[in-house]
Formats: sequence, structure tokens, C-alpha cells
Amino acid sequence: MVLVFLALTVGAISVLWSLQNSINALKESVVEIREELLPMTDLQILLLRAAMPPNDYLIHGDTGERELFTQISQMVDTMFEHLLTPLLFTREEERLAIATVYEQWQRSRNLGEELLNLPYPPEDMHAAAQKMRRFDLSIGQAVNTLEQTHDVVHQEMLENLAQARSGQNRVFWIITLITVLGLLFAIFASRLLTGDLLDLENLSRGTSRLGKGDLAHRVSVNRQDELGRLAEAFNDMAAQLEANKTSLELLATHDSLTGLYNRHEFQRRIDEELKRFQRYGKRLSLILFDLDHFKKVNDNFGHHRGDQVLVSFAGIVKRIIRGSDIFARWGGEEFVLITPETTLQDATLLAERIRQTVADYEFVDVGKVTVSIGVSSARADDIVEKLFKRADDALYQAKQGGRNRVEQEAAIASPTEVMQDQSD
Ligand code: GH3
Ligand code: MG
Ligand code: MG
Repeated sequence: MVLVFLALTVGAISVLWSLQNSINALKESVVEIREELLPMTDLQILLLRAAMPPNDYLIHGDTGERELFTQISQMVDTMFEHLLTPLLFTREEERLAIATVYEQWQRSRNLGEELLNLPYPPEDMHAAAQKMRRFDLSIGQAVNTLEQTHDVVHQEMLENLAQARSGQNRVFWIITLITVLGLLFAIFASRLLTGDLLDLENLSRGTSRLGKGDLAHRVSVNRQDELGRLAEAFNDMAAQLEANKTSLELLATHDSLTGLYNRHEFQRRIDEELKRFQRYGKRLSLILFDLDHFKKVNDNFGHHRGDQVLVSFAGIVKRIIRGSDIFARWGGEEFVLITPETTLQDATLLAERIRQTVADYEFVDVGKVTVSIGVSSARADDIVEKLFKRADDALYQAKQGGRNRVEQEAAIASPTEVMQDQSD
């Protein structure tokens, strides 16, 4: 921006300087013309004055007219000396014209002197009148020639003026053009710079948001230059980071074999659910699963078939439970399910349905696999460990009871049992 204004200022100064030059040239030409024209006008007046004394002498016979004629003649000669200076007139035709006028004057002067030297009254009145006419004619010619020269010089002055004016006009238009172009350029440059700045700010804001962890943010810079390519690279990088983050989050919270929540995520969620249960007094049940004789499945059909059984089991349970239930792989062939808004009885019924479905299912290449299930339900001042322990105890009972069974937690203990429990 600063450069643009600097260039504009330099341009304007140089144009103004040339304008000043053309004005000076015009002034000079006016002065020059004045120097040429004024003496010519003066000379015309003097010539006309010089015509008077011989005429007056012939009419009145006043010898004083001789003296007057001599004075005027000297003044005319001085004027010619000035006008014949080689440097005064620039054009050859003007110099020639002045020389012609001078010759005509010489002739007129001689005739004038002859007329003034005649006796008064003249002896030959007719000859004197003829000489007088020749004298007047000669003076008239000189004045006419001067008049024509005057016109030529005047014409020259007009041409010079017109030239100077057209020069000035040209300079004026150049100034206008430069100013308009400069302004347009300044507007264009400022728009370009403003656009660049906005896009850069966009990018910098995007980087800062990315730095703060907002991986979903993308910058919108619609341009084909380096800045556009930089924005594209930035967006690609953000998309890559976001995808990495999503898959990392998935890895951190899910079990890679079954796609269920892993033990860590399950613990986080059961903490949340128990707090909600305690805050709003809603129901919450926990169901623990342990596949029966799973070691044998591995032993008989291989670890890979065992894995497939685990995946199939997860699928069976997912199809039965509700969307609000939280199902996770606890580890190995053990699974855990939280059922919010469910009583112990309803959770037991659900567990029974699952058990039955699994028992009825034909696992690919393996055949029948059963599951033992323990169910517990959250109590007023429960903690996760206690809730879990009761479900685990029930599961143990199910195993002890012969497997492929569902067992509920033990009923709330009597006060004596509680005291007994606390003293343990
Ligand atoms: P029960 O629970 O009925 O008492 O018998 P079980 O054979 O299932 O008992 P246990 O808990 O001793 O054995 C669990 C077996 O599960 C041990 C291990 O080989 C197998 N196992 C644990 N994790 C995986 C796994 O990710 N894939 C496979 N294929 N097997 C697993
Ligand atoms: Mg087990
Ligand atoms: Mg088992």
C-alpha cells in the first residue's frame, strides 16, 4: 500500500513539474511576442506621425516642421536599429519584411526631406503635390507592410498559444489518467491485500483451533494459489488427525474382537450410571455372563473357533437387549451388561431369555455352548464394587448349580447378618 502511494506521489510530482514547464514555456512565448509586436506598433505610429510635418509644411509653410521631421526620423531610425537586431525575429520572413519596411522608410525619408527643403510656397505647385503623393504612398506602403508583418507575428503568437494550450491539455489528461489508474490500482491492491489477510487470518484461526483439539474444524479458503494449496493441505491434515483420533478412541474404548465396549470403558460407564441412579433414584441392574467350559471349546475346536463363538455370543446378546443397555466384554469369555430402569426381576427374566437363546443356538462348527449368568440390582448407598460382587457371587452360584443357569443376588440380609457381615 505504502509503495503504491509512493509511486503515485512520484508520478504526480513529475507530471506537475512538466505542467509547470509548459506554463513557463507559454509565459516565455507571450513575453517574446510582446517584445516583437510592441515596437512594431510603436513604429507604425511613428511612421504615421512622420507623414505629418511635410504635409503641414506644404500647407502652412512652417519651417519648424523640418525640425519635427528630423526628430521623428531619428526616433524611427532608432526603432529600426532595434527591430533589425538579428535575434529579435525568429522567422526569416519576418526579418525580410522588416528590411522591406526599412527600405520603404528610407525612400519616404528622402522624399520627406526633399519636400521640407522646397521653398514656401513651392514654385511648381503641381510637382510638389505629386512628390507629396509619392511621399504619402511610400509611408503608406511602409505602414501596410508593417501591418502585414504585425499580422504574421500575431498569427504566430496565436499558433504558439494554441500549441501551448494543447500541451497543457495533454498534460491535464495525463494527470487525470495517471490519477484514475493509480486509484484503480490502489483499490485493486488493497482488495487483494485485504483478501490475503482475511485468508491468512482464517488459516491462523484454524491452526489455533486445531491446536486446542478441535479436529472437526476446516478452513474455507477458495483460491488456486499457494494460500489455497496451504489451506487444502491444512484441511487434509485435520481430516487425517480426526480419523486417527476417532480410530484411537475406538481402540481405547472398544474390544477389538467383538466390537463391544472394553472393560475400561465399561467401568467408566457403570460409575456414571450408578451416580445417576443415586441422584434420581432410578433402578439399575447388572448381569454377569461366563461361558461354560470354554477351555474345552478352545481345546476341541481351536482358539480361532473359540473366538468365533465369542463374537457370535456377543451378537446374540446385542440382538436381545435395548439400545440404552450397556454391554461389554469383561475379559476372556466373561461379559457384563448394565440394564438401566430395570428391576432385579426384570433383569433376571432378560438373563433367562439370553441364556435360553444361547442354549438353543448352534455355533458354527462348534455346536452347543451354554452360559452361566449372575444378576444383581443396585441399592440405595451402593458402590460399584459391591454391586459387582453380588452379581459375581450369583454367577458362582450358577456355576455351582450345574452351569447353563441364571442366579440372582442373595436377598437383602437381616440386621444380624449385616452386623455379622460388617464384623468380617
Ligand atoms: P467354566 O467357566 O465353565 O468354569 O470353565 P471355563 O473353561 O470357561 O473356565 P476358565 O475361566 O478357567 O477358562 C476360560 C478359558 O477361556 C481360558 C482361555 O483359554 C479361554 N479364553 C480366554 N480368552 C479367550 C479369547 O480371547 N479367545 C479364546 N478363543 N479363548 C479365550
Ligand atoms: Mg471364566
Ligand atoms: Mg467360563
